[in-house]
Amino acid sequence: MRTPFICGNWKMYKTVAEALAFLAAAKDLVAGAKEVEIGIAAPATTLKSLADAARGTNIKIGGENCHWEKEGAFTGEISPAMLVEVGASFVLVGHSERRQYFGETNATVNKKTKAALAAGLQVIVCVGETLAEREAGQTRAVVVEQIQKGLEGLGAGDFAKLVVAYEPVWAIGTGKTATPAQAEEVHAVIRGEVANLFGKPVAEALRIQYGGSVKPENVKEIMAQPNVDGALVGGAALKPDSFAKLVNFRS
Ligand code: PEP
Repeated sequence: MRTPFICGNWKMYKTVAEALAFLAAAKDLVAGAKEVEIGIAAPATTLKSLADAARGTNIKIGGENCHWEKEGAFTGEISPAMLVEVGASFVLVGHSERRQYFGETNATVNKKTKAALAAGLQVIVCVGETLAEREAGQTRAVVVEQIQKGLEGLGAGDFAKLVVAYEPVWAIGTGKTATPAQAEEVHAVIRGEVANLFGKPVAEALRIQYGGSVKPENVKEIMAQPNVDGALVGGAALKPDSFAKLVNFRS
């Protein structure tokens, strides 16, 4: 009922030439994938070329961040409309690296989410606890607050273009994956909170991706969890064959 969404996050990797070489190799490897949505969030400089090259394929291209204003004196920033103009169809908001290194807060996540939705982008809102928060028994409270504040003021209709990614910070780029049971437990909390806030039909239809050291070797068991509807993948999405194995997780 919920179409799985496998999405790469390239972070600050790949020049335009490297991005196009990846796409040329990956597109044939995933062309036969059925009932799965496929995305790559890529550096801003590569988006136009990638989106042009991906036209007619089953891979969609997205940004890794955006600003909430339409335009203005915000040196270094990119607006949602600018992403749309170059062919991006989605954007990541609130990735833990943005929260950790660039001052992203639940309040800015909320503003960015609203602005991106208003521009017509699909939004992947990222949430997740740090290791210290998990060890202090605060996982549930942290993630619930991120959902409450990050999605505050949205309407049920906004959820047609909204995806949540649960990414425990301690599992991102560390090789430490949450166990399928740990992921499932938090995904269920997120779905429960979305049901409280926006109603059960919205929560049941919402896709919740897991992210944190997902690789071809563990994707199948993570995707088998009932509340896991996709994966947001950094390192293992940088090579075409590995990315294709993630997309083709059923085989
Ligand atoms: C990410 O960047 O969102 C991520 C989950 O990275 P990795 O797969 O490398 O842990």
